[in-house]
Amino acid sequence: MRIFEELESKVRGYIRAFPAVFDVAKGSEIFDEQGNRYIDFFAGAGTLNYGHNNPAISEALITYLQRDGIVHALDKATVAKQAFLESFRDTILAPRNLDYKIQFTGPTGTNSVETALKLARMVKRRSNVIAFTNGYHGLTMGALAVTGNDFYRDESYGARNNADSLPFDGYLGTDINTIDYLRKFLTDGSSGVDVPAAIIVETVQGEGGINVASDEWLRELEKLCRDLDILLIIDDIQMGNGRTGTFFSFERAGIKPDMVTVSKSIGGGLPMAILLMRPELDQWKPGEHTGTFRGNNLAFIAAATAIDTYWRTDTFAKEVKRKGAIMEEELRRIAAAHPDVPSDVRGVGMVWGLELPNGLAGQVSARAFEKGMVIELAGSRDQVVKFLPALTIEEELLREGLAIIEQCVSEVIVKEGGR
Ligand code: PMP
Repeated sequence: MRIFEELESKVRGYIRAFPAVFDVAKGSEIFDEQGNRYIDFFAGAGTLNYGHNNPAISEALITYLQRDGIVHALDKATVAKQAFLESFRDTILAPRNLDYKIQFTGPTGTNSVETALKLARMVKRRSNVIAFTNGYHGLTMGALAVTGNDFYRDESYGARNNADSLPFDGYLGTDINTIDYLRKFLTDGSSGVDVPAAIIVETVQGEGGINVASDEWLRELEKLCRDLDILLIIDDIQMGNGRTGTFFSFERAGIKPDMVTVSKSIGGGLPMAILLMRPELDQWKPGEHTGTFRGNNLAFIAAATAIDTYWRTDTFAKEVKRKGAIMEEELRRIAAAHPDVPSDVRGVGMVWGLELPNGLAGQVSARAFEKGMVIELAGSRDQVVKFLPALTIEEELLREGLAIIEQCVSEVIVKEGGR
């Protein structure tokens, strides 16, 4: 660990929660340099939905490199990009009756968010954007302005401009429909909240604590946007790519967003991000929004392989739902075993959160690491243990991981005297 402490910036984060030097990984298992094994319930924060070194993806990448396929190409046409575009159109968009143009942005989620916000402002000629409490959209300045958590924000960054934060589904309690609240603000010229170019939202807030927006709320949000001529941007960076049981997380609500940001697992584990937009919104001039790393051709090969391998039939999506049901059942059982500790279990598909009081969530994650598991926290106070295994995880490994968590929860509750 010495070189990391000596040379790497203090900004390093996950290395502190998971202090090991990791070496190799396969599927949902990671091994450190001493050969210790860890079950991965973190999946690169949603980047490794198809597991570490997925065999189909690795094989395609090796073959591509061996034939000296183009690796970097800015936004030039390549065979790899063509393969991705064809797979995405035929296997993802067309069967869902979605008509989107695809923009390749810089290869991280925040690049896609920046692009969406810029385009929305350009098209609507309005500077304001609305986001939601506990939302997370990235940490470059535009995306940061629509990210809620004040741990990341500082007045001095000047990154609070042209964005308003309004209450997400459930933020004001179960009795208050926050869409009514939003509609009131946006239709009253004296509310102090300007009608925005766009509203950006996650259907399930990942970093914010696994807060699931209801289908009804999402439909009402879409209607509000239509009524008031506001663009609806779904940030599907963490919840897309099958995480919630469908390829796009908004499919469950039957809505059609104007733009969708997609990153993380789209590149099959390699850096890649895209923005989907309704064709009328594609008002860019050639080269107007550019970037050196929009042509990560290795990611295109990985992405096309992932789509071809997992999305041509509904078998994979069904498996996600089946394993998600196991996660839900086990987590509800774990929570119910400790009736004296106020907890909450929430999620959909294969993303679940276990909220625990008084710092217990952090203790569970730390204890789990000692027992050979990588699992992270979510929520504004790190109060939620976040279950985000690879979608490809074997049932046996999934159950093994859940059993370790069950033990950890019992141990930390006993240690803390059941508070
Ligand atoms: N949006 C969402 C919903 C995210 O979860 C994240 C990353 N956690 C981002 C945007 C930013 O992505 P990146 O870290 O790749 O910039």
